[in-house]
Amino acid sequence: MSTLGHVRTELEAGAPNAVSRMLGLLGDEWNLLIVQQSLLGATRFGEYLARLPISNAVLTTRLRGLTGEAMLEQREYQVNPPRTEYLLTPRGRALWPMMLLIWDWERRWVPDHVAQLPAMRHDTCGALFTPLLTCGACTAPSTDTDVKLRWGPSGSWERSTPITVTRRRGGATGPPGLYPETMSVFGNRWSAAILIAAFLGASRFGDFQRQLGAPPASVSARLRAFVANGVLSGSDEYLLTDKGRAFFGVLVTALEWGQHWFHAPEGPAVVLTHRACGERFTARVACDQCAKALSGDDVLVETVTT
Ligand SMILES: [Zn+2]
Ligand SMILES: [Zn+2]
Repeated sequence: MSTLGHVRTELEAGAPNAVSRMLGLLGDEWNLLIVQQSLLGATRFGEYLARLPISNAVLTTRLRGLTGEAMLEQREYQVNPPRTEYLLTPRGRALWPMMLLIWDWERRWVPDHVAQLPAMRHDTCGALFTPLLTCGACTAPSTDTDVKLRWGPSGSWERSTPITVTRRRGGATGPPGLYPETMSVFGNRWSAAILIAAFLGASRFGDFQRQLGAPPASVSARLRAFVANGVLSGSDEYLLTDKGRAFFGVLVTALEWGQHWFHAPEGPAVVLTHRACGERFTARVACDQCAKALSGDDVLVETVTT
């Protein structure tokens, strides 16, 4: 077994930071969908193909990319003819809190989607639950207004520009359970970057454009899309709506994942502080029924009955 997926990647001083690496990997619709299906048990090429509206070529590219980034690892399960399957490494599996919060956000904020999403049961207490973002230090439930975000020593937009080698597909929506709105919000690198900028306080077109260094046409297209799906409101000034602010948990768990697995020698790219307790904020995702921290393998997906 390769050890790459078990240890963090040491970034070079001055190199693209954890945000850049995270956006490059997670700001991609297909990568998110493949990781999601892996967490739900898919391991074989044919399984991904059956579960996702994806072509052979795109699936091959993404599996290669995710394996190269040590989020998946290949294992031969048949010798003659040789067949391999893809297993999540600890690095890939560590995305479960983010995926759980995506599920919750879609369920709350995308009404058309509710009936299609499976329920989740907490194995420890036996109840159907909703994940709750809480502070790892003091365990208080936390929203975006409770957590202060600022750039850390390796943080700046220059170093956070998403690196990616793959292009996003067009606007087709997939079958049920594929989180179409999340994909439009987070599933491409500029959208994800704009959302982070909004949480860091950017609100005007010029702020987004300057900070991201993105082509103006991309920025205005993304801002329009965010207004259309109710994540941002306004035209002169773009402000996060309640729906947009509710995405905070997804963003924080994605940031935390990035900063855990991609380590810059200067220190973190984004520093999060819990205002109430004053400690560094780390996401602790808890069960709203029994208040215990979830561990990932104690979350059971209920079969959809509709
Ligand atoms: Zn706290
Ligand atoms: Zn529980």
